[in-house]
Amino acid sequence: MKLTSKIFIGLLLGLAVGLVLNLAAPDVFSVLNKYIFDPLGTIFLNLIKMLVVPIVFFSITLGTASLGDPKKLGRIGGKTILFFLVTTTIAISIALAMAFIFHPGDVAGIDPSGASYESEKAPTVVETFTNIIPTNPIQAMTEGNMLQIIAFSIFVGFALAMLGKKTEGVMRLIEQGNDIMMFLVNLIMRFAPYGAFGLLASAVGEMGLNGVAAMALYMIIVLATLFIHAFITYGSAVKFLGKMSPVKFFKGFFPAMTVAFSTSSSSSTLPVSMKTAQENLNVPKPVSSFVQPLGATINMDGTAIMQGVATIFIAQVYNTDLSFAQLIMVVLTAVLASIGTAGVPGVGLIMLAMVLNQVALPVEGIALIIGIDRLLDMTRTAINITGDAACAVVVAESEKKHDNTHAAETAAG
Ligand code: ASP
Repeated sequence: MKLTSKIFIGLLLGLAVGLVLNLAAPDVFSVLNKYIFDPLGTIFLNLIKMLVVPIVFFSITLGTASLGDPKKLGRIGGKTILFFLVTTTIAISIALAMAFIFHPGDVAGIDPSGASYESEKAPTVVETFTNIIPTNPIQAMTEGNMLQIIAFSIFVGFALAMLGKKTEGVMRLIEQGNDIMMFLVNLIMRFAPYGAFGLLASAVGEMGLNGVAAMALYMIIVLATLFIHAFITYGSAVKFLGKMSPVKFFKGFFPAMTVAFSTSSSSSTLPVSMKTAQENLNVPKPVSSFVQPLGATINMDGTAIMQGVATIFIAQVYNTDLSFAQLIMVVLTAVLASIGTAGVPGVGLIMLAMVLNQVALPVEGIALIIGIDRLLDMTRTAINITGDAACAVVVAESEKKHDNTHAAETAAG
């Protein structure tokens, strides 16, 4: 049986077992969770997390170095960031429209009076940007600060490209380091079906269906928007800009989506999503190694969608009307929040505080959605990394044209 099918079965089994135990035998669930589900999930998470920092360092350094000249680096970097910004803006706009059409916050049974939420401090926009340059790259690596590791790797990759022959040895070292990591990803993925089972059983068993009823409309709108954005926005992007059939795209990338769904973490899924894009979507290594780690850190359309719907939801529950200027503010801050959101479980909700603050909505509103956020986190993470892969496909295609013209020019010249 193919690995994807195995992972999918693991997911479904975990879902079923978690739900049944939650409803029928919560005591049995606690014991099984403690000794089986949770450890299985944690081992799998740790196995892939173990690879994240070295993979980001090796692959971005290698990606930057193999892009070669600064012009190409600037061009690919520019296209990547533009794609991320445009798609995230589209994502949040669809989210706002859906929330306005379906009014998730006007459902009976939602009572904001008892809601309280201690918001963790969300970094400000300026903080997010000034912190990109690490004062100590080794510390950035031990702390797993992705944006800083990316910045450092781009510098090193750039230097390698400029120094060329002189640093051939180090370049080989980085290439081989990258090979070792990719080999390990393949190895670890064999454990993925069991990990997915453990993660799902544990999450669903704990969460059950409590509190879902009043929140059903909110959940449905977030989920529907995630699907609309994936199929329409990414579908058209890969078809028209990436010249790839959307069916091939979604089918090929599905294994990575299942891993994102079970881990709720773009960063943890990164090793798998790069491997999947390179092998199943034929994205050339240099593009994949540059676009995807960057995307896993700064491109979060799924998160922006949740934040858009949640903001309008909270405004409706608290009977607050948002002006047009405030809505533009929501779009801007949600785009920035999605850049500043780390690709780990649940952070999107913390960053929602920043969006709410910006338009003076009560941050306590987060308490209303926190209980059901786990399932949405899983789904939006799958969308987050799909956006990165779509970008990689589009950038790869546009570079192909560029390389062809370049080759033709060189031949003619
Ligand atoms: N879990 C999401 C991710 O890693 C981030 C979030 O929205 O909480 O992509």
